[in-house]
Amino acid sequence: MSKPHAEIAGAGFAGLVAGIALAERGWSVRIHDKSPQLRAEGFAISTQPNALKVLEAIGVRDRVLQGGMKILRRETRDRNDRPTMIAGDGGGYRISRQHIVATLEDRARQLGVDVEFGSQIAGADGGGVLVTSAGRRLAADVVIVADGIHSCIRQSLGIPAVVTNHADGAMRLMVSRTTTEAEQDVRAGPMTCERWSGTRRILTSPCSSKELYVALSCLVHDELAKRIPLDEATWSGSFPYLADLFKRIGAETDWSAVRWVQFKTVKLKRWSLGRAAIVGDAAHAMPPNLAQGAGCAMMNALSLAVSLASNPVSDALTAWEAQERPLTEHTQRWSRIYGSLTIWPETLRSNAFAAMGKIKWIRRRYQRTANHKPTGYNPQTQADDGGN
Ligand SMILES: Cc1cc2nc3c(=O)[nH]c(=O)nc-3n(C[C@H](O)[C@H](O)[C@H](O)COP(=O)(O)OP(=O)(O)OC[C@H]3O[C@@H](n4cnc5c(N)ncnc54)[C@H](O)[C@@H]3O)c2cc1C
Repeated sequence: MSKPHAEIAGAGFAGLVAGIALAERGWSVRIHDKSPQLRAEGFAISTQPNALKVLEAIGVRDRVLQGGMKILRRETRDRNDRPTMIAGDGGGYRISRQHIVATLEDRARQLGVDVEFGSQIAGADGGGVLVTSAGRRLAADVVIVADGIHSCIRQSLGIPAVVTNHADGAMRLMVSRTTTEAEQDVRAGPMTCERWSGTRRILTSPCSSKELYVALSCLVHDELAKRIPLDEATWSGSFPYLADLFKRIGAETDWSAVRWVQFKTVKLKRWSLGRAAIVGDAAHAMPPNLAQGAGCAMMNALSLAVSLASNPVSDALTAWEAQERPLTEHTQRWSRIYGSLTIWPETLRSNAFAAMGKIKWIRRRYQRTANHKPTGYNPQTQADDGGN
């Protein structure tokens, strides 16, 4: 009997994890990506214990961790640099995005997955067909749509989608660390720090002894703060004690590679149609406030493969969505709630962070996804990265 076959659109977190997990379960897989080569974005993402478990389940955790740094503490601070919440980071790492995706691509190829770059997909249909932009029709037992937040393929399936544009967004970049910053890792442990001033915030997080990840967020109509190259005077005005960091950012950054992106939430009426499944940001994008967009993309991609391996396709897709959707929607909801603090008066916001640090009920809710054991992760045979 010939192997079941999957055609996947998108070689990001979702498409690659789905491809690897299906190949491990005996499927033949081809992944298409419109980029001429693996996208080389120079920033890092926070990878929480749930995402690490997915990486472990597909055999790449240790290799991925070589490109990142374990974060031991997380702080939020107010405009005067006073801590409003201090917490453990719950076992997360900050890892170069490019390194994660390159490791996934390598693992996919090892398993015989055909990864085709420069292959743009224009649409899909529920009969199990991907259509390339050159008009080729590629038939499969299942097609997986993983083409990211601006998905054009989900539109071709005609599934009703609600895309919510949030009031804020961010630019991301990497900058070198000073010796003093790196020494702090030895003294107090690597720390992610999110500082708020008015409606602006800056998140800093080491991703190695030499590199610091920086995300600068502001409201969509805050033209000065959105400016690329960075308007150092504007940001120093909001965070005067970080003036040296803004200077360093100004001197080191290749601004042609930096974009300001508005945060969005994507909700689809359903995650599948016939033999087509939609996964990752294409199905359930969220603002990055809980650092779970890629985490949910990878969890749902692994779970999709698990479900397809043990059920006929239509049952598999229905069961998969019923199982995973509630946690994904919980994550979207709490990410939105966290983001809404942007427009709160500062004292109220500081009180909210203090409450988040102290009240277990709130902490359990916003850490629920990070502490989740993904479908397809088997704790009996795989070491648990833990959460706290
Ligand atoms: C500011 C910011 C910070 C973030 N920080 C974090 C974080 O710390 N932790 C975290 O977990 N998540 C984070 N995220 C979210 C995370 O980046 C996304 O959730 C994740 O990239 C989604 O993965 P994906 O595979 O669904 O989509 P993508 O990573 O966008 O991959 C989609 C792929 O599809 C390809 N493609 C697109 N169209 C086509 C087409 N027509 N044909 C073929 N290929 C196509 C693209 O080239 C791309 O390679 C952040 C997001 C933002 C905006």
